[in-house]
Amino acid sequence: MPKVITTTVTVYQLAELTTEAQARAVEAIAEKLASVWWDDHDNEAIGETIRYSLAGTFKTPGHDTYGCGDFPGIPNVTVVGWDLDRGQYVQVKGTLDRTNAPGLPWVDPAGSIILTDGRNGTEVEIIEADGPDCTCDHGGWESTHDAGCPERSYVGLTDAEIENLAEAVTDAIHAAWIAGRQEAEYKSSAEYAREWIESNEMEFLEDGTAYAGPAGRPSTETQYFRTVVVVEILGNTPFAGDAADIGPAITEGDYSGAVLSHTTTEVDRPSMAALLTMHGSEPGFLQAD
Ligand SMILES: [Zn+2]
Repeated sequence: MPKVITTTVTVYQLAELTTEAQARAVEAIAEKLASVWWDDHDNEAIGETIRYSLAGTFKTPGHDTYGCGDFPGIPNVTVVGWDLDRGQYVQVKGTLDRTNAPGLPWVDPAGSIILTDGRNGTEVEIIEADGPDCTCDHGGWESTHDAGCPERSYVGLTDAEIENLAEAVTDAIHAAWIAGRQEAEYKSSAEYAREWIESNEMEFLEDGTAYAGPAGRPSTETQYFRTVVVVEILGNTPFAGDAADIGPAITEGDYSGAVLSHTTTEVDRPSMAALLTMHGSEPGFLQAD
């Protein structure tokens, strides 16, 4: 007769662990969240934080009525990229004016500010507004304007005004960098890991090790697999579809395709729930809730 050996595993919620085991559990999860579990959603949150900080300094309409996550953005301005580590820069592209950035120290001769995303940050260029129109009878063709012509006395932007505006923009970008950096640090923090553990209902062994299910689980228990498939698509135009478009593009469309690699790993239930959420799917779809 085959012998059936039944073992039991006691699993704990985070709060049920000892203080030491909780610390171990939180540290391990925080480390994963900051590295292998870091994903596009985290980057998106950083970008939103940077953008929202800029909007706050610029006093962009809507910044005080919307929160960071639902703020619709600064019209005509895009946060293109950033380096929160050694690079220490934020790349912003677009045009600032009195409408989208009323909080800047505008002076009459200033028209707009052009931001260009460079390799290591943002270039700031102050653009002078159009001066007053010439009112001379001779239409400005003579070398000097008449005494009463407003163009004669127009001085335009002074160096100090240019410097003042440029500095205000640079300071705003620096403050946004700090906000982005703080968000990145928060997402790597124990506090964030604790929230993540709770919302994903993770379970642990007594020593704080994340519980991934019994090794020899019975076949009736739901298993979770993550398969990464690398597909090469060849065409006369770049392929721009998403997952659902790949099959039709290859079998009925103008593309040739081949699978280059297939990698499958088994994941635990909380990981599967998190992965499904990242896809925009409900964890319940694969019984991972
Ligand atoms: Zn004139």
